[in-house]
Amino acid sequence: MLEALAVWMGLASWVQASMLAVLIIVGQCGIYLAIRTGRTKGFKDPALTLMQMVFAIVVLTLAYAINPSARGLMPMIMALVLVFGAFILPPARCWQLGWLSVFSLGIGIGLCTWQAPHIFEPRIELFHFLLPALVLPAIAKLAAQLSALRIKLRHQKDALGLALGKVHELATRDELTGLPNRRHFYELWDYELQRRHDGHTTLCICLLDIDHFKHINDRYGHQVGDEALRLFANILSTCLRAGDVLARWGGEEFMLLLPDTTPDEALKILERMRLACNTPVNWSSNPTIQATFSAGVTAQIPREERDETIARADAALYAAKHQGRNQALLR
Ligand code: GH3
Ligand code: MG
Ligand code: MG
Repeated sequence: MLEALAVWMGLASWVQASMLAVLIIVGQCGIYLAIRTGRTKGFKDPALTLMQMVFAIVVLTLAYAINPSARGLMPMIMALVLVFGAFILPPARCWQLGWLSVFSLGIGIGLCTWQAPHIFEPRIELFHFLLPALVLPAIAKLAAQLSALRIKLRHQKDALGLALGKVHELATRDELTGLPNRRHFYELWDYELQRRHDGHTTLCICLLDIDHFKHINDRYGHQVGDEALRLFANILSTCLRAGDVLARWGGEEFMLLLPDTTPDEALKILERMRLACNTPVNWSSNPTIQATFSAGVTAQIPREERDETIARADAALYAAKHQGRNQALLR
């Protein structure tokens, strides 16, 4: 548009201005089509930012040559192009672009003075070149510093994101078994209650406790006990359906959350788990270890406090222990 204004005001030749306009339109359309058709998808720079900036510098150099009266503007616009690079390009590229703009301008001015010294007076052109030759690298340096800062901030943000993930992991997971911990279990339970707000479906919880676990520790040592806990968690996890939650409740106790499950279905799931645990080799790398578990099952009554539901599951577990262990009881 500026070019059209320059032609209208008689400051530029319309033939040269039209050629420049055609170059800009063809170049921009080519870049746009390459991006839109997905040809640049596999590229390191799929938006062709660097290519667009190099193109802009070349176009500005040409604009310098065909607009003798407005040529002082072109290095300023080049500086703007370099600043833009700080937000997209790596620092080294900002630098290279700075030197490219000086080089391009130098060649352009050199050719202009050589071809048309009556328009581009060499002494004046020397100043037209020297000023941008000093300023553009300085701006490129600033852009490179900004770019380095931007990259550093991005790395810090990534590291912070990782650290946050780790903190979340530590806050929600049990370290030994990798299962959700008690706190996270409560969160998942809350989430489940919010999700099934109509209260029509049945939610069951089951409190599981390994039978005579102390004997395993006493006989084989704490380390084998830990390994047994991990394996126990793995075995139970293989019996879960999508949406079920198994958490480590503490020590050798585990808690199951079974959404949309009737007590009868919960008992069936526990029976599956009991059978899975009955294979001695599953329990430890030491095949002589065998263990069973007892469980208390209960359904949460709509609008019942969680503590009351847990107390009922606990009472059912207590009864299961008293009735000889290795069984699940419903309350
Ligand atoms: P019961 O059938 O009545 O449940 O008997 P039990 O021996 O399983 O129960 P008790 O509460 O007497 O003992 C639980 C044992 O679990 C005691 C404790 O040392 C052990 N324990 C708790 N947490 C861990 C753990 O993280 N690692 C290991 N190795 N042992 C643990
Ligand atoms: Mg216990
Ligand atoms: Mg126990």
